[in-house]
Amino acid sequence: MRKPFVAGNWKMHGSKAFVLNLVTGLNSKSGELKGVDVAICPPSLYIDYTLRSLSTDTISIGAQNMAEEPHQGAFTGEGSASMLKDLGCRYVILGHSERRAIYGETNAEVANKVRVALEAGITPILCVGETLQERESGVMESVISEQLDAVLSLVGIAAFKAVVIAYEPVWAIGTGVTASPAQAQDVHAFIRAKLAQLDAVVAENIIIQYGGSVKPGNAKELFGQPDIDGGLIGGASLDADDFIAICKAAEV
Ligand code: PEP
Repeated sequence: MRKPFVAGNWKMHGSKAFVLNLVTGLNSKSGELKGVDVAICPPSLYIDYTLRSLSTDTISIGAQNMAEEPHQGAFTGEGSASMLKDLGCRYVILGHSERRAIYGETNAEVANKVRVALEAGITPILCVGETLQERESGVMESVISEQLDAVLSLVGIAAFKAVVIAYEPVWAIGTGVTASPAQAQDVHAFIRAKLAQLDAVVAENIIIQYGGSVKPGNAKELFGQPDIDGGLIGGASLDADDFIAICKAAEV
């Protein structure tokens, strides 16, 4: 039985006042969370402040990205896996479509970051997903396969025991357009079946989140699908009431 996992991706939003207000709201409602793992991923600059503001251990902290270089060095502007670990991060989002599209991150770079995160003892939330054009032109499955294969060939299927996958159709991220529960389920089942060809136990146990315009009003139906194990939440994670409502919708 997989325990659902919901993570909030705050993207590049916030200020100290905003973080304090949001985390105060999460603190006060965290007692309502049962049967679901929860994490929030603030901008790196606010990770420490967020952790200091959190008064509950039912919510973990993650980062939104990290460098390929695992430790320290002359990499101006970067932050490493060992630094995230030192700060207290349990998760790191890798390969988000905004990183791929805006910053040109390749499948090979994402795979290398997954390797580095695993070596540092941080759980990668590996994002995969197709654009609308890729879906409409019938290459959705091959795009997602290539995204997964790059990581699989570098770290091997056994390492996926410690990986979370987030299926995020690019056309549904921040657009208000959600994949229908059936559309999302189809892709989640495809991903799980692909992994099952390599290792049935890993495939059965891996958490596959859905991400893309999840809101309190659509979360329950999405998370009720057999292969959807919670969500990666962008916009709605910036509101404590909405985020907690979404987390509760994933509870088993
Ligand atoms: C995301 O950024 O990962 C995401 C799913 O965003 P939103 O929920 O706003 O679509």
